[in-house]
Amino acid sequence: SVPQSSDAATRSTDTDALVSRTSAASLGYILDPYSCHLLPPSLRRSTDKRPPLINLGTHARTWAVDHLVRQFLLSGEGKGKGKQVLSLGAGTDTRFWRFRDEWERQGWEWECRKWVEVDFEEATASKARSISGKLAFKSKLGGEVKIAQGGTALHSPLYSLLPTDLRSLPTLSSSLSPILDPSIPTLLLAECVLIYLPPSSTSDLLHWFAETFVKDGSAAVSYDPFGLQDNFGQVMIRNLATRNLSLPAAPTTPTLNSLSNRLIDAGFSSANSLSIAQIREGVLPKEEAARVAKIEQIDEVEELNLVLQHYAVTWGSLGGGEGEVGEVVG
Ligand code: SAM
Repeated sequence: SVPQSSDAATRSTDTDALVSRTSAASLGYILDPYSCHLLPPSLRRSTDKRPPLINLGTHARTWAVDHLVRQFLLSGEGKGKGKQVLSLGAGTDTRFWRFRDEWERQGWEWECRKWVEVDFEEATASKARSISGKLAFKSKLGGEVKIAQGGTALHSPLYSLLPTDLRSLPTLSSSLSPILDPSIPTLLLAECVLIYLPPSSTSDLLHWFAETFVKDGSAAVSYDPFGLQDNFGQVMIRNLATRNLSLPAAPTTPTLNSLSNRLIDAGFSSANSLSIAQIREGVLPKEEAARVAKIEQIDEVEELNLVLQHYAVTWGSLGGGEGEVGEVVG
């Protein structure tokens, strides 16, 4: 029994992410012409920009997750068979459309057979309405678009949107089984989602993924806050509490090590985590860092680092071999 009132607060975290992406896109931090179309009407006229600290954080996080997902999609594994992406708690994420555009610009062949996004039904219903009502979204889906389950689901040749509570694994796995082919290299993507689930649900999800999908080429990428035991973390938890949002994992929030260990414990053959601060310092190409540094003046460099030291990307592969996600990052 999970309190339903906090589910609404959990869903609202996606609006935060959306507003941040729209802000970062409007200033040129990231290339995302789609997010602004997903803003709810009440926020559409808002010209509010997020502070530079948040824009830089959004940029670094988006860059890191994009980098890993792109690497998965371009790796040699699954050549000829295709790839699949399963995005948990996708909310208003626009990565599918951004990548479709990027592949077109680069002249790359789109080998991702299916991209599936899962979220609460309130979130999928409004995303299904936006997608089916806008040619810019609809035209990238590879053919006929069908709305299902009373408007809460959407199916198309390349993309599906499914309403499911991630705490109910049997429902999730049975609704995915007609859509995803377990013999194709599959990426589990969880961007800022697992922290909202009870640790036992996260563990069940990761075990299920590792046991269900082909080892060769399958991988996971997640983005999560961690290390909230320190003073900064306590402030973050208090801020969430004022929005009626408690982190189920709060007493034992992950550490950088436990983020990758939970993949190994679930049966992944390799896993790594880096904080977003480490990514900005050591992985983000210098030209890209210099480009975004020029967009706005930032006075809160120390605060930026403090925030980015509490978020991480984690990636892991189910099987060894070539094309392991993250080998360029590591
Ligand atoms: N992945 C998107 C991003 O990074 O921009 C959205 C992140 S948002 C912080 C968290 C998302 O997880 C929300 O869309 C929320 O509805 C979803 N979520 C959290 N708990 C969930 C659950 N039990 N079942 C389905 N979705 C859930």
